[in-house]
Order: sequence, then structure tokens, then C-alpha cells
Amino acid sequence: MSEDLFLKIVAREIPADIVYENDDVLAFRDLNPQAPIHLLIIPKKKTRTINDMQEQDAALFGKLFLAAKEIAVGMGVAEEGYRVVMNCNAAAGQTVFHVHLHFLAGRQFSWPPG
Ligand code: 5GP
Repeated sequence: MSEDLFLKIVAREIPADIVYENDDVLAFRDLNPQAPIHLLIIPKKKTRTINDMQEQDAALFGKLFLAAKEIAVGMGVAEEGYRVVMNCNAAAGQTVFHVHLHFLAGRQFSWPPG
């Protein structure tokens, strides 16, 4: 069993409401949603934080955004708008150390974020 919570979701060792998958990327609903639509879009390859990203993986991380775009179109929120956020380490509030793009939609978001 992997110690990485999100790799366990990739391996179907723990359940999740999966909404999108391709060879490199998985997206599932956040357990504690902060918006009517709150998804986590992750690379299937283990990477702890943005600080661990490597040049050779640039295309892989770009695919997180392409997945976000595809999901937004599929869920009908592309035109009204949505927010994607990636937290890095403690000051930003990262709690799960497997890179994930938060995808939030379905309400009006304020700026600056809290
Ligand atoms: P972070 O704070 O690291 O940016 O975001 C981690 C997110 O993972 C949080 O929004 C939290 O609700 C979500 N989360 C934590 N554990 C689980 C889980 O087991 N399943 C799912 N679907 N989401 C989780």
C-alpha cells in the first residue's frame, strides 16, 4: 500500500468520486468542498510539492490545466468561470503532499483569497 493518500485513490485502494481520468491525470471531488463544484486534479506520478517539479515533467504538469479546461467545458462552467489553485507547503495551507490543482466552480469567488 502506498503512503501517499492520493496515490491510494489512483490505485483505487481508497474510494473517491472520480470525474475525469486519462493516462497521466486523475480528477475527483474534494472530500470537504469549498464550492458547489470542488475537484482535485492530480498527476498520477508522485510529486510532493511544486518545489519538487522537474523540467522533464513540464508537459505532465501542463496536462493538469488541460484537464481543468476539459472538465470546465464538460461541466458547463467554462464561460461563467472557475478558479484553479495549487497550494505549496505550510504557509499556503498544503495538507496533502501530492501535487494537486484545486478546481472550484459554481459560485462567485473573491480576491484576494484568504
Ligand atoms: P491542500 O490543503 O493540500 O491544498 O488540499 C488538500 C485537499 O484534499 C483538501 O481540500 C481536503 O479536503 C482534500 N482531501 C483530504 N483528504 C481527502 C480524501 O481522502 N479524499 C478526497 N476526495 N479529498 C481529500
